Amino acid sequence: MNVVRFIEAKRDGRAHTKEELAEFCRLVGQSAIPDYQVSAWLMAAFLNPLSDEEAAWLTEGMADSGERLDLSGLPEPWVDKHSTGGVGDKTTLVVVPMLAACGLTIVKMSGRGLGITGGTIDKLESVPGFRTDLSPAELKAQAMAVGIGLGGQTANLAPADKHLYALRDVTGTTASMPLMASSILSKKLAGGAKYVVLDVKAGRGAFITTEEGARELAKLLVRIGEGAGLHTSALISDMDIPLGSAVGNAVEVREAWDVLTGRELDGPVKRFRELCVALTAHVLTVVGEDPATAMKRAETCLTSGTAWEKAERWLIAQGAERHLILPVAPNVLTVTGTESGWVGDIHPVQISQLVLDLGGGRKTKTDQIDHRVGVELLVSVGDQVESGQPLLRIHAASESAAEEMVGRAMGAITISPSPVPARAVIRSS
Ligand code: URA
Repeated sequence: MNVVRFIEAKRDGRAHTKEELAEFCRLVGQSAIPDYQVSAWLMAAFLNPLSDEEAAWLTEGMADSGERLDLSGLPEPWVDKHSTGGVGDKTTLVVVPMLAACGLTIVKMSGRGLGITGGTIDKLESVPGFRTDLSPAELKAQAMAVGIGLGGQTANLAPADKHLYALRDVTGTTASMPLMASSILSKKLAGGAKYVVLDVKAGRGAFITTEEGARELAKLLVRIGEGAGLHTSALISDMDIPLGSAVGNAVEVREAWDVLTGRELDGPVKRFRELCVALTAHVLTVVGEDPATAMKRAETCLTSGTAWEKAERWLIAQGAERHLILPVAPNVLTVTGTESGWVGDIHPVQISQLVLDLGGGRKTKTDQIDHRVGVELLVSVGDQVESGQPLLRIHAASESAAEEMVGRAMGAITISPSPVPARAVIRSS
C-alpha cells in the first residue's frame, strides 16, 4: 500500500475504497505504519469526515485487524454496552455486573482515557491485581464462569482501533463522528455480542456537545451497527456536568462500588445511580423484558446485593486481590465555598483538566497515570449551599499539588444567587 497516496486522498477529500481501508487497518494493527503517517491520516479524516460507507468499512477493517470472538457455547443473550465517553463516566463498572446479575452474558472490550474523558481500562487498573489483558480464550472462559469477561484491546482483538485510539487521544482527532462510531463498533463486532446498547453523551464534558449532534451520532452508530448485523440501540444522556461525584481513576471505582453495594446514597452519586439503573433497564428491554419489569429488576439487583456479589466474583476471577482495597492519594484537600446560593454550574472540562494536571490522565501516548488522584464533588447543580460549606475534595500526590488546584477547582463551580433546577441525566431514549 502507498500510505502517502492514501493520506493525500483523504487530505484532498477523496473517498477510500473498502479494500484500501481494510489494508490500512491490517497494517495499522501490525504497527507497520509509522505513527506520524497514521496521525496525518487521522487529521485528514477529521477534517474531511469519512462517509457512512467508509465508516462502515473502517469498522469492519478494524474488527478484522485481529480475531473476532465467537461466543457460541456461552449462555445467551450476549450483550454489550458502550459509552461514547464523558467526564466521570464510570457506568460500565456498575452496569456490567448489574446485567450479569440479571442473567445476561457480557464479553466486552473497553478503552483507555481519550481526550478529556477517562477510560474504563485505566479505571479498572486502579484495582490491585486486576488484569485487563485477557486473551480471547480467557475472556470467553471467564464469561462462562461468572457471566462477565472485560478487557482492553490486545494484539488479538481490534488492534487497529487500539492504535488509532491512542493516537487520536494525543492528536486532537477524537471528536469525529465517523471515527468515534467505527472505533466503538469495531470493538463490539470483535467482541462477538449480539445486542449492543450505546450510551451517547451530549454536553460540554463529551466529544459531542449538542443534543442534536448526539442524536446524529446515535443514528450513525445504529445504522453502522445494524448494517454489520448487530442489534444496536442507543440512548442519549447528559454530559454537560460531570457524571456523579468522582472524576479520576480509583475515586471513580470507589463511587461505582458504592452504588453496587446498594446502600442508601446521597449527593451527586444519585444522578449516576439513576443512569446505571436506566441503562440496565434499557438493555433488559432490548432483550425482550417489558419496560416496567426491566426497571424493577434493575433496581432490585442493586438493593438485593446480587449486583455487588457478581462484581466481587468478577473482579476476583479477573485477578483482583481478594480484599479489594483501592489505592488512595496521600493528600486529600477539602475545598469550601465562599458564597451562599445555589450551585448553578459545574464545568466538566475544567474538572477533567484539573484531574489530568494532577496526573490522572495522559498528555502523551506513553504517559503513566497516577491512579490515586482525582476530584470528588460534594454538591450537584441545583443544590442550595451556604458559604463555608465543603464543595469538593482534591485527591493529590502532594500537598502542594492539591493546594495549587484550589483556585481552579473553585473556578469550575458557579454559585447562583437564585434557585437553579437540577439537571436530568437522561436526555432521550
Ligand atoms: N469510545 C470509543 O471506544 N471510541 C471512541 O472513539 C470514543 C469513545
